[in-house]
Amino acid sequence: MIGSFDARIPSGPLDRKWTSHKDHSRLVSPNNRRKFEIIIVGSGLAGGSAAATLGELGYRAKCFCYQDSPRRAHSIAAQGGINAAKNYQNDGDSVYRLFSDTIKGGDFRSREANVYRLAEVSVNIIDQCVAQGVPFAREYSGLLANRSFGGAQVSRTFYARGQTGQQLLLGCYQALCRQIAAGTVQMFPQTEMLDVVVVDGHAKGIVTRNLVSGKIDKHAADAVVLATGGYGNAFYLSTNARGCNVTATYRAYKKGALFANPCFTQIHPTCIPHSGEYQSKLTLMSESLRNDGRVWVPSHGEDRSKPPNEIPESDRDYYLERKYPSYGNLSPRDISSRAAKEVCDEGRGVGPGGRGVYLDFADAIKRLGEQTIRERYGNLFEVYEKITGENAYQVPMRIYPAVHYTMGGLWVDYNLMSNIPGLFVIGEANFSDHGANRLGASALMQGLADGYFVLPYTLPNYLAGQMGKRPAADHAEFKKAESDVRAKIDNLLKVNGNRSLDSIHRELGLLLWDKCGMARNKAGLEEALSKIPELRERFWHEVRVPGENEDFNQSLERAGRVADFLEFAELMCLDALARDESCGAHFREEYQTPEGEALRDDENFASVFGWEFQGANGEIAPPKLHREPLHFETVHLTQRSYK
Ligand SMILES: Cc1cc2nc3c(=O)[nH]c(=O)nc-3n(C[C@H](O)[C@H](O)[C@H](O)COP(=O)(O)OP(=O)(O)OC[C@H]3O[C@@H](n4cnc5c(N)ncnc54)[C@H](O)[C@@H]3O)c2cc1C
Repeated sequence: MIGSFDARIPSGPLDRKWTSHKDHSRLVSPNNRRKFEIIIVGSGLAGGSAAATLGELGYRAKCFCYQDSPRRAHSIAAQGGINAAKNYQNDGDSVYRLFSDTIKGGDFRSREANVYRLAEVSVNIIDQCVAQGVPFAREYSGLLANRSFGGAQVSRTFYARGQTGQQLLLGCYQALCRQIAAGTVQMFPQTEMLDVVVVDGHAKGIVTRNLVSGKIDKHAADAVVLATGGYGNAFYLSTNARGCNVTATYRAYKKGALFANPCFTQIHPTCIPHSGEYQSKLTLMSESLRNDGRVWVPSHGEDRSKPPNEIPESDRDYYLERKYPSYGNLSPRDISSRAAKEVCDEGRGVGPGGRGVYLDFADAIKRLGEQTIRERYGNLFEVYEKITGENAYQVPMRIYPAVHYTMGGLWVDYNLMSNIPGLFVIGEANFSDHGANRLGASALMQGLADGYFVLPYTLPNYLAGQMGKRPAADHAEFKKAESDVRAKIDNLLKVNGNRSLDSIHRELGLLLWDKCGMARNKAGLEEALSKIPELRERFWHEVRVPGENEDFNQSLERAGRVADFLEFAELMCLDALARDESCGAHFREEYQTPEGEALRDDENFASVFGWEFQGANGEIAPPKLHREPLHFETVHLTQRSYK
């Protein structure tokens, strides 16, 4: 294995670790910072905030994204809000409570030290964004407003209507543009990273393809930061932007970076149900709607085709309120998703195919008035109406769980560095602080914590020992990586079969959803593991990738990404099979409590799984599993209860 698998968690009391780590980390003096070049792949909230901050500090950064502008990163889609332990509501919140809610929400499969740091810096994020002019919602008094999200009994979510990601990204983008204008950050839009270059065991550059001209380039640097987002699109249908993919992190994995917990996928309970074969994207209805919407299905299967307003109260089952009275409609996402699946499996689901449950605002409208609901969620109701043709002020919304977020990602230590020295991974791309389930409004918090407040301290600690070690971009390792990239592109163009990329990707997605989705079991995972290599084989014989490399060719772009999904899917299933327990969103049907909740096995599985690629010359061999034990010194490992 390259580098080491040591989490490097600082010693000392939990609430002093981060401060003391910063106090003792190595620094780079202001005069020397401009001598370092840092590559940042990704310009969403994680990459954009990192590039802007490193530029402001005086480093020279090159920032890459595949969209035509950093403003189009998938982060812009985030709707509901961002958590922070400000306790503005005076309702009992604190750094400790955000930390313990997040550890519990993730079903005790994340590191205490990382999560505590996340809660600690959450408060700085809000100040930073307000200073940038992010228009968070405010109370009548002018103070910042908050709402509640699942898995918490306090209101700590800051929001900008249903467009929080967009407003945060605009703030971040302004900071980034300032550095672009100052010359500290060089932006490379429409440029896709296709390989990481490792020289003498350190990440020292990348190989890219210009998506407009097809030009392949080599870029050398002192360190590489991947901020390339999540891989939910492995499932084909997800709430992610269509471009989201696993290519950057998967290719880094093939270069020796460990991939952690790849099977931990979050299924979001409130999405517009899938409506037909033609569909290539699912739409999220923000979890914030569960603040005021009540989730129900008919008590009796025979009522499921009746218009909802004709079903009397006595014949409705508000199943979340019934099963989880303490948290009710604000139960965490994994629990709410499984509960929806359960009632649909019982034949009580509504809408086409019986795969939907109601999210009903009638009570809230009666209590607060339609205008208040319109002010809180107006744009979400509009989105819903545009897609379904239904007016949710008059009839309940129909929702169903869908793939939304990936807690797995490249393994990183406390410094956010992978096992490959010099390769840092931030935002959704790393295996992150969310354990086996992410609580709502925590991804934006983590991405911005990483980019604005963590990496700017931990990266210099590495750089301080790297002065003058940047290789030239014509080093043999760069040449080799470039020729591998070219060979892969040629091979994709050569297949010349007759199947569309979409049809193969859809087939993979359906298989993953069935066997490695909301519920998994040994037999199903084994079946998927036998089918995925067959599908991969067919891809390399049957797919048709029209056009050529030296051109704007979106089929070619997508072909590379689908090829990576076809390999990565196997790793997801292997991980799900090896984790012989249920935890959070990883629900193995064999391991459940009598009430049908996830049954953990802390003795054998309170650990992070880090997978090491094995294989050579284009062949894949079974990966090697490394385990990082998780130590809980502050919170007690208990069976999660939201009752
Ligand atoms: C519909 C929706 C709503 C959401 N709402 C919320 C919410 O309310 N609150 C919350 O906390 N979270 C929310 N999330 C989750 C959150 O939006 C994401 O987890 C977060 O924005 C990810 O940020 P990121 O910077 O890590 O990645 P992204 O924003 O996905 O950015 C990835 C960047 O990497 C670049 N990139 C990727 N691969 C390559 C490559 N090979 N070469 C070059 N560039 C590359 C892309 O161009 C892009 O710039 C939501 C997610 C969805 C899908």
